[in-house]
Amino acid sequence: MNKKLIIGNWKMNMNESDSYTFFDEIKKNNNHFVHEFAIIPPAPLIISIKKYLKKNNINNWVKIGIQNFYPKDKGAFTGEISIKMFEDNTLDYLLVGHSERRLFFNENNQFAIEKALYALKNSNAKIVFIFGETLEQRKKGNLENIIKEFLEKLISEITFEDLERFIFAYEPIWSIGTGKIPTIKEIEEIFLIIKEILKSKFKGKDVNISKLIYGGSVNEVNYKLFLNSNLIDGLLIGGVALESHKFISILKNE
Ligand code: PEP
Repeated sequence: MNKKLIIGNWKMNMNESDSYTFFDEIKKNNNHFVHEFAIIPPAPLIISIKKYLKKNNINNWVKIGIQNFYPKDKGAFTGEISIKMFEDNTLDYLLVGHSERRLFFNENNQFAIEKALYALKNSNAKIVFIFGETLEQRKKGNLENIIKEFLEKLISEITFEDLERFIFAYEPIWSIGTGKIPTIKEIEEIFLIIKEILKSKFKGKDVNISKLIYGGSVNEVNYKLFLNSNLIDGLLIGGVALESHKFISILKNE
């Protein structure tokens, strides 16, 4: 199996000591990892986790990202987090457009795109642009429109070289945390639509420099279904990323 990218999003879970225990397990098992990975902890833990990783000499290969940020360097934005608060290159991945941000904090495609464009200019991190449909939208069958809605606008603002910084994460909203998953064929259809849109914008260029990953109810049993597809470059994992033994089993491709 090719090396894939596995991203664990801890959401608003874990505290400092839970996270140290998690990374101790990662360190013990890393010789057997088949896949590359990143962890996206809650923002207030990032600096102490970074120090812990350094102390344990695992800072070079454990990648860390942030779940949310505000697209400004600094200023009067009470409660918000700027990526400039982190030392240069501290953040390897930036999540943008997660359905929980959209649902609970009214973030829309326009704001997600603003964040992505800000991140392109103001960091070296990879941008994980998340999108997906509700059950209602799925029933109406307008998945192509949902993709076009963000992708055409986003790519009208970026160069081909920028594309390498993007990871497009398809997360059907009805699948997140529900145990329900789409078929591989359905995911592949979505990814082929994305590739077609990218190809028509960046004519003659190899659009595979951006990654396409899947998220939604991935677990330590079903993950291989997804990773066996040549079109799926990796996974975005919520619940199962909180349990080190399950997450590690996926990284080992057991
Ligand atoms: C998520 O929220 O990004 C996610 C994929 O969650 P889960 O794996 O728990 O469905």
